[in-house]
Amino acid sequence: MPKVAITRKIPGNGIKMLQDAGFEVVISPHDRALERQELLNFIQGADGVLTELTDKVDQEFINAAGPNLKIVANYAVGTDNLDLTALSSHNVVATNTPDVLTEAVAEHTFALIMAITRRIVEAHKLAQSESSSFGPEVLLGMELKDKTLGVLGLGRIGSRVAEIGKSVGMKVIYYDVKQNPDFEIKVGAQFKATPEELLKEADVVSVHVPLLDSTKHLINAERLKMMKPTAYLINTSRGPVVAEAQLTEALKNKTIAGAALDVGETEPKWAEGLVDLSNVVLTPHIASATYEARSAMGELAAKNITLVLSGRQPITPIKK
Ligand code: NAD
Repeated sequence: MPKVAITRKIPGNGIKMLQDAGFEVVISPHDRALERQELLNFIQGADGVLTELTDKVDQEFINAAGPNLKIVANYAVGTDNLDLTALSSHNVVATNTPDVLTEAVAEHTFALIMAITRRIVEAHKLAQSESSSFGPEVLLGMELKDKTLGVLGLGRIGSRVAEIGKSVGMKVIYYDVKQNPDFEIKVGAQFKATPEELLKEADVVSVHVPLLDSTKHLINAERLKMMKPTAYLINTSRGPVVAEAQLTEALKNKTIAGAALDVGETEPKWAEGLVDLSNVVLTPHIASATYEARSAMGELAAKNITLVLSGRQPITPIKK
């Protein structure tokens, strides 16, 4: 009976689907990311592993799993925790969970945009203190209508964020390595030829690129200086896309008005001083955390595992 190792319990029907398919399913007993050695021990002898983005999948992982390993199904759309070259050189299929989390992440991105521009966290703290109510100048924020939303990375999630932006009356501009003329017509979005052009013009910059060598620290001190002092930075992609210590300095110096982040460079820790700032809203990597998305991610991963372990093609293979 093929063995499937699940490195952390997931919600929804995914686990049951794998059990019903006749696999021996082992689930980590810990409700936390496994320590490295725990992970390497846990996956021994597995034919398929359902991994989390916190699990580093590399040559050592492949060796630890052993020769039966045929599929690593990553419970994420991002692939930066996977060594795709090592996996393909061992003929191990890698899959991810695109599309099913797009709406959840886009909605969370917009929740962050609204939270930072309308100062919701500061307002919540003030209300809790019972020391203030209506005042003509209390906690003034920025309206989104007629402002410019700059989307960096117009893929599945970036496109949906652009559509939501359009629906609240924002002008949409975007930068991507691939121009998308159809989307420009559909949403009235304007392509910018460089990230710099976008940063200079946008009132809200929302980052949706994958973490690659070419996108690490895409947002750094130099680029933050190009943004308007009234502008906001939102990041729900991957932490290292933003140079977090440099962002912290920019927020302290009011180089930009504020930032809202779902992802950090060294999760769960944030750059020193960031959490103490009032012009920041932080969430602990929960952008896809809806019942709908997390269940669908598990079901898609389970289908991919079942297909590959029965000699068929997966639904969402990762293309290198
Ligand atoms: P996608 O592949 O559909 O979109 C990524 C876009 O970025 C593509 O259009 C690509 O052309 C573009 N791109 C790549 N390199 C670029 C560069 N150097 N400059 C500009 N654009 C570039 O992916 P997606 O489904 O939209 O997901 C985007 C990212 O969001 C994922 O890679 C993942 O890291 C992150 N994510 C985070 C969460 C979370 O929980 N916070 C959840 C889901 C996804």
